[in-house]
Amino acid sequence: MKFPLLNGVSWASRRWSLWALLLALVVTLLAILVWLSGRYESSMVQSRLEHDAGETVTDIRSGLTRNIQTFQALQSTERPPAAWHAPAAELLREHREIMRLEWRSETLEVLGFVETPYRSSVFERLGRHGMEADVNLTCTTARRLSGSAYSTSYFMPQNDGLGLEVMDMCLPIVAAGRLMGYVVATYSLQDILGELVGKQLARGVGLSFTEADGTRLALHGVVSRGSRVYVAQQLLDLPGNTLVVRMESRLGTPALFPNVLTALVTAMSVALLAVLFLLARDMRRRLKVEHDLGEALAFRKAMEDSVLTGLRARDLQGRITYVNPAFCKMVGVDAKDLLNQSVPAPYWPPELAAMYQQRQEIRLSGSNLPREGHESVFMRQDGTRFPVLIMEAPLINAVGKHTGWMSAILDVSEQRRIEELSRASQDRLQATARLAMVGEMASLLSHELNQPLAAISSYATGSLNLLQGEMAPAATSSPGGPDAGPTAPPLSEDLQLAMRRIAEQAERAGKVIKSVHDFVRRRDQVREAVEPRALLDAIMPLVSLQARKLGVRVVIEVDAACEPVLCDRTMVEQVLLNLSRNGMQAMQAMQGIDETQAPNQQARVLTLRIRPAASNAHSRWVEFAVIDRGEGIPREVADQLFTPFFTTKEEGMGLGLSLCRTVIEQHGGFLGFEAAQPRGTIFSFTLPVALARDGHADVDAAGTAKEMA
Ligand code: ADP
Repeated sequence: MKFPLLNGVSWASRRWSLWALLLALVVTLLAILVWLSGRYESSMVQSRLEHDAGETVTDIRSGLTRNIQTFQALQSTERPPAAWHAPAAELLREHREIMRLEWRSETLEVLGFVETPYRSSVFERLGRHGMEADVNLTCTTARRLSGSAYSTSYFMPQNDGLGLEVMDMCLPIVAAGRLMGYVVATYSLQDILGELVGKQLARGVGLSFTEADGTRLALHGVVSRGSRVYVAQQLLDLPGNTLVVRMESRLGTPALFPNVLTALVTAMSVALLAVLFLLARDMRRRLKVEHDLGEALAFRKAMEDSVLTGLRARDLQGRITYVNPAFCKMVGVDAKDLLNQSVPAPYWPPELAAMYQQRQEIRLSGSNLPREGHESVFMRQDGTRFPVLIMEAPLINAVGKHTGWMSAILDVSEQRRIEELSRASQDRLQATARLAMVGEMASLLSHELNQPLAAISSYATGSLNLLQGEMAPAATSSPGGPDAGPTAPPLSEDLQLAMRRIAEQAERAGKVIKSVHDFVRRRDQVREAVEPRALLDAIMPLVSLQARKLGVRVVIEVDAACEPVLCDRTMVEQVLLNLSRNGMQAMQAMQGIDETQAPNQQARVLTLRIRPAASNAHSRWVEFAVIDRGEGIPREVADQLFTPFFTTKEEGMGLGLSLCRTVIEQHGGFLGFEAAQPRGTIFSFTLPVALARDGHADVDAAGTAKEMA
């Protein structure tokens, strides 16, 4: 999992802008909602006020109409003006809104009048006369309308310094179609509001009469100033006069939330904002947890990716549910090809699959897994096998349920290789120790054998001298004597030859021992230029001896072009001897050859070949080859042919070939072998030509083959 920083930043800013947008939207929505609900609420208040105003106008109008009826009732009975006073005064006591009631004749002369008992006379200060013109106009209108008519309102200053807005009403009295007179009532506008409406008026509502231009004429109740005052206006259309009834209300206006609905919406908005805030906080925590989780996951992934141990999880059915990169790399298979794979797994060697399957079933069915793990062999995709160490444990999930198996797998091929190397070096160490022992032994033997060999040599020489001494007098004293006989000289000659050979071989043995001793002691070996042929000649007596014993024919092929070689003569002779002996022994092991019969000339031939080898400008080489017709060398033997102490023979030491190679390599040459055709083996080695000595050595037989039986 990757968390690119830039991506993360852009994501975070995008998320924040989304949140800001959401918040802005919600706030706008809520504001609109509150505003709308406020508006709705105020429109409700407004319409209620309008309705109330309408009602008020109706009330006033019906009150005035009722009054007119009362006036008509008052005037219906024929009575003198003196008798009119009492009922009229009574009427005024009942109707506070009427300031003055006049009974006027057809010519508008005042026949009688009463004033309200509740206050001093309205016209007290200015007198009634000033208003006569108005009264006339009103009554003319009333006459024309044949009903009541109202004058325009006018202001009457009072004695107390205040004033009253009043209005006259004129009602013509008609009896039997004839105008009898007028009733003129002066209304106080303020008291109309107080008496005809006032009682039903809700608190906090101001009621007033205004003119069309808004000038207030009379007021009842309290009028509050400021904004948020609801106003409703209705026309009070009276015959002869039109007034505007204005209703002002502060119902609920001072509150921030003018009504329940707005409060409710506001409360809900606040709740919504609170939820939004909580959600944002939750989101922030969630983001933090997500971030922490992401980091933990990334850390875990990094660990899994960098661990060198292969990890594999399997479910209870043995299906692979997880593998880490190390495991995929180990077996060379992609994770997708491994996941959900059951038996046989792609990394099981086919030849072991059946066994593994059985083993898996047993292991997965039981609960006692070995803690130290077990070894197994897995296969890579390219088919190579490699050893692994598997440690398995039950996979327990977060709720403690056993859901499968978890395995850690270690590729132990490197360990095995190191173990193998250390074993091999151990073996080499042992071999070296044994070689050292052999060296010691050889050294001891050479020391111990020198004496008896010297003794053999001197005894042989002594015997030879004795024989010669005896033969000389015998030949002179009794030639042809009966004792000497004709056979004596050959016998003594044979004996002499034998004695010479004994002396020679004893001497040679001494040299061999010295050479080996020097070789073992790593002293400077004596290098000399030797004719290749001379090397063969030196070992021929011993080779012939063994060849005769084993029924082998020895063939010698020497190329005339061979130059003398530079070598430690005795050691190279030993090498040739060793190779010849091995070759003869290889042919001895051949089946189907009867030892008692005359030797099979064709079957057992040992060829000793000397010829120039491939040379270059700086060095020339001579190749020596020992060719047998034996069984050949099997592959498994060939691999360890030159390993010290490796032998297939019962009496063998296994040191011959390894020593031979060391000797040849010390001379700068190379010792190797190859299969001969049609059968047998060719062992060959090279030696450098002695360049110091120019010219050719005398080579016997001029390169022609010389056979020796
Ligand atoms: P040894 O002769 O004591 O066994 P060597 O080092 O000379 O030790 O030879 C090692 C082995 O190599 C022999 O035991 C033999 O199995 C094998 N070997 C050597 N020369 C030949 C050969 N010419 N043909 C077949 N096998 C041979």
